[in-house]
Amino acid sequence: MKISVISVYIWSMLFKDIIGQEEVKKRLVHSVQENRVSHAQLFLGAEGAGALPLALAYTQYILCKTRRGGEACGLCASCIKCGKLVHPDVHFVYPIAIKKGDVEKSTDVAPEWREAFLGNPYLNLPDWFSHLDAENKQPIIGVEESGEILRKLSLTTYEGEFKVMIIWMPEKMNAAAANKLLKILEEPPDKTLFILVSENEEALLRTIYSRTQLIKVNRLSDEEIKKALTENNQLSATDAARIAYLADGNYNAAIKLTRENIEENSHLIKFREWMRMVFKADVVSILSWVEEIANSKVGRENQKAFLLYGLNILRECLVGMYGDKKLMRVDGEELDFVQKLSTRLDGTLCKQLSDELNEAIIHIERNGSGKLIFTDLSLKCMRIAKQNAPPQPSPQGRA
Ligand SMILES: [Zn+2]
Repeated sequence: MKISVISVYIWSMLFKDIIGQEEVKKRLVHSVQENRVSHAQLFLGAEGAGALPLALAYTQYILCKTRRGGEACGLCASCIKCGKLVHPDVHFVYPIAIKKGDVEKSTDVAPEWREAFLGNPYLNLPDWFSHLDAENKQPIIGVEESGEILRKLSLTTYEGEFKVMIIWMPEKMNAAAANKLLKILEEPPDKTLFILVSENEEALLRTIYSRTQLIKVNRLSDEEIKKALTENNQLSATDAARIAYLADGNYNAAIKLTRENIEENSHLIKFREWMRMVFKADVVSILSWVEEIANSKVGRENQKAFLLYGLNILRECLVGMYGDKKLMRVDGEELDFVQKLSTRLDGTLCKQLSDELNEAIIHIERNGSGKLIFTDLSLKCMRIAKQNAPPQPSPQGRA
């Protein structure tokens, strides 16, 4: 199986880079072409539907110097600055973990924001807070922020006709901040566009809601997510379809599932390779395999994840041998491997191998040397495999 490298960073802020949402894009383009851009708009969409990147693409379109029909050029200075999130007329407001005297407004963590957003424009609030290392903190847009908004609005525009203020998650404004924003929206400054990007209209102040033009951003269809996954992440059609189904219209979830999928595949390949060497008692190959997995770059957590994966596979073998096959949780290539491996094992061998893997996990947790642990583990597993290895094809079926 081809292991693909996940790429979320495909960004240039053009409409065409945003998944689906064709109707909304048309509507936004028309509003610009007909000079009917409302000064306060609310982009409302569930997580992973793309309301935030869509707001960015819309902003880039508005500010582009050489629009071509329904698309920004992507090449002018304005487009390039928009794409890097450094356009001087585009301002962002987002929830932060307030720390008095240190982090009080969005701009205090602007570099982190650029990094997080450009890494994944479909990010959600927990992703953003995990990027800030602030998982346990309360996300808030505080009153300091409204002062900052007023200050930014008083600046003259550098390049564009418009100043754009994108407020992500306005539902996280505290009451003081929301009331100040409301005052601004009631008397909007000239040539200023507010785009509020929200996931939850219930949590928004009614008065703010009623002063904005609503742009609904619908959930993505499975088909749209599948297409994006095959094009952006080179997933196979089967994997993409399965992930799209699980993601349920949320592209952010789909990205995470893709990452897990890739990791699982690499565990599968490594574990299958290792079992093949163990059953062949191929000591030379095992020693170089140990060098690889014991490499400090792999890290203890990864080594542990690999062993846990192996335990899962052995569990699946047991279920397949003795339990209800319907309870097996593997399919495709994994199922194929489990079936082949099962022909070399019985209950006792499975149990002995699992015990050794468990033992190795404990040693890893106790900070033992990876090289020693994996060498020892491989030799023990070889001994177990030898006990009762019936003369059958190797787990991979081609040795
Ligand atoms: Zn342009």
